[in-house]
Amino acid sequence: MSFSYDLIVIGAGSGGVRTARMAAQAGKKVALVEYQALGGTCVNVGCVPKKFLVYAAHYSELLADAKGFGWKIAQADFSWQQLVTNKNQEILRLNGIYENLLRNAGVTIVAGRARFIDKNTLDVAGEKLSAKTIVIATGSKAFIPDIPGKELFSTSYDMFFLEKLPTKMLIVGGGFIALEFAGIMKGLGVETHIAYRGEQILRGFDHDVRYFLAEELRKKGIQIHLNSHVKSLHKEVGKIKVSFEEGHTDIFDVVLCATGRIPETEALGFAVLGLELSESGAIVVDEQFKSSIDNIYALGDVIDRIQLTPVAIAEAMTLVKILCGDSRARMDYSNIPSAVFSQPSVACVGLTEEQAREKFADIEIYESDFSPMKYALSENEECTYMKLVVEKQSNKVVGAHMVGADAAEIIQGIAIAIKAGATKKDFDATLGIHPSAAEEFVTMRSARK
Ligand code: NDP
Repeated sequence: MSFSYDLIVIGAGSGGVRTARMAAQAGKKVALVEYQALGGTCVNVGCVPKKFLVYAAHYSELLADAKGFGWKIAQADFSWQQLVTNKNQEILRLNGIYENLLRNAGVTIVAGRARFIDKNTLDVAGEKLSAKTIVIATGSKAFIPDIPGKELFSTSYDMFFLEKLPTKMLIVGGGFIALEFAGIMKGLGVETHIAYRGEQILRGFDHDVRYFLAEELRKKGIQIHLNSHVKSLHKEVGKIKVSFEEGHTDIFDVVLCATGRIPETEALGFAVLGLELSESGAIVVDEQFKSSIDNIYALGDVIDRIQLTPVAIAEAMTLVKILCGDSRARMDYSNIPSAVFSQPSVACVGLTEEQAREKFADIEIYESDFSPMKYALSENEECTYMKLVVEKQSNKVVGAHMVGADAAEIIQGIAIAIKAGATKKDFDATLGIHPSAAEEFVTMRSARK
């Protein structure tokens, strides 16, 4: 049977672009189907624009801190519209870079929504495309709880295109997106409330990190409401009235729903194929990313393993090796570092203290909290927390956690050491860079009692 392509990739996000580009460079005839801008969530409405907003918000703090270092700054003036315009321009530039990378690699870009006709054939805007192998990399979309007035929620997508900054905002959820947007909005002067359903924000992260971060966020003026459940939303003359299950109501300009993301499989027409989906709607794949249909593969957020760009990219690299004949290639999901770009930020790699206690008979905890030198001459009261989790018998560092300025930049380096199997003795034998916050990671001498 002859097909128009060796491989069709559906979805031009981080995982899809990497799959298409690498497969084309390896000599395959590849088409990439996308109905929106190239780059997917990460580039257009996720990691990249979010980081611009995080930087923008942080400048307000830097301007205040600078006074302690002798700077006299006239009344600073911030324009949200200017920030959004500049952000949009930069993203257009990145879309262009993606397009060039793909075209230079020989990938055919097809604009439109893909819909399966059979296991080898897709309909894209009325055109039939066929391939021996199809990779689904359609990503994820915001999950919105089914409550009255749910259409009044904004999602993280909407936050990137707000016409003006709200005066008062509610963020529902206590995970990555909630905490990142809380820092952004508070930094830009918005009265920011978080309503989280559980006992403490950032479930799944190290216990001490969660409590330390919550305290730091409160110090910055973010109002965190724990054990808080939104019951319904109602329109109220240009604003939104929120009723809570706990019995009270409050009024906000914007209510952001940051309650997780679910696999995006809408309109792909799986029904004709009988492709197996999990309860969460994710495409079920084996360790070689093969779905229940033998020529269809999937990776990234749509398989709902770990929703991170570098994971989707690594999965793509693994899959291309497999498609090019390396049947033993496997994705290594161990020690994946991650960061929450809250303010202060959080970053970690490896096991939390709780996970390590469950896994090993004996562990040691090294920790340090301090006021960073960066703020010594300013009125900024932000503190930093660092923690190393060590498996006692082997002396291996099995987890590193940080809350504080530049946490992601610091933990990225520590992640290499942990991936390489470094012991606490290796950390101790490493000289610090002085003066820096990062040097604390190599100068923690006594285990917590
Ligand atoms: P998260 O899973 O991080 O957080 C979801 C939050 O919503 C949790 O606090 C969860 O509570 C809560 N929640 C879930 N369902 C409900 C509900 N029905 N009602 C009320 N609260 C609910 O998801 P995000 O949306 O923040 O982000 C999605 C994913 O995107 C992240 O998991 C991450 O992988 C990725 N991401 C990564 C970023 C980064 O790398 N910096 C930045 C942004 C996103 P509970 O904990 O109790 O379940």
